[in-house]
Amino acid sequence: MIRFNKVNKWFGRDHHVLKNITLEISQGQVVVVCGPSGSGKSTLIRTINQLEPVNDGEITVDGICVTNPKTNINKVREEVGFVFQHFNLYPHLTVLENITLAPIQVRKMSQEAAEELACELLQRVGLLNKKDAYPSQLSGGQQQRVAIARGLAMRPKVMLFDEPTSALDPEMIGEVLKVMQDLAESGMTMVVVTHEMGFAREVSDRVIFLDHGEILEDAKPEEFFTNPQHDRAKQFLRQIL
Ligand code: ADP
Ligand code: MG
Repeated sequence: MIRFNKVNKWFGRDHHVLKNITLEISQGQVVVVCGPSGSGKSTLIRTINQLEPVNDGEITVDGICVTNPKTNINKVREEVGFVFQHFNLYPHLTVLENITLAPIQVRKMSQEAAEELACELLQRVGLLNKKDAYPSQLSGGQQQRVAIARGLAMRPKVMLFDEPTSALDPEMIGEVLKVMQDLAESGMTMVVVTHEMGFAREVSDRVIFLDHGEILEDAKPEEFFTNPQHDRAKQFLRQIL
């Protein structure tokens, strides 16, 4: 579903932030990306839908080469949902309108069909009763669940998450992780940047550890947690566990 072939990225002339990344993620896989702050995690997942361009190498998503300048990247972005740390809901739109906007404008769904879909997704994330609320009337955890529903409304093939629980109060983290776990169990291909090692251990199929723009570990969670190969991964785990 996602393939990186020798991808390199620099910020400026000499800040090498992604170093020769080669990676294949198959359909239905749930991959956690972890690593120290500044190691390139956000940059890595943002390249998948070209929120960040790369300098060399190739990335394909569902067979489409997103790094080819001839590719219509907007088409690819319709298939790839992205959930940000800070929710990024439209503050002037209701929950329902946040979710129906793209299906109506981009997918050309009728308003009625889009609302039906939105209600189905709100039910799934446990927020149908908030459909007419504005984002500012919701807790952080609720806003993030709406953001996930909004991503799913485009019926994406892949969902990317960049530290989806990092901005939340501790008591709200669980409700968001539960929605993500349900999504994982439904077979969605997911790449999740997170420090939630419980999620990595229980839900993911694979953990990637990034350090200074390099993939140092790429392993099943049980291997990663019990037998990391690199000292820097051991040190990282000691600090966060
Ligand atoms: P992480 O998500 O692992 O914390 P990032 O991918 O955000 O790391 O950043 C990787 C490195 O690239 C960091 O050193 C960061 O300062 C730098 N960086 C990120 N975005 C930019 C940018 N737009 N311009 C210049 N440097 C950047
Ligand atoms: Mg980041």
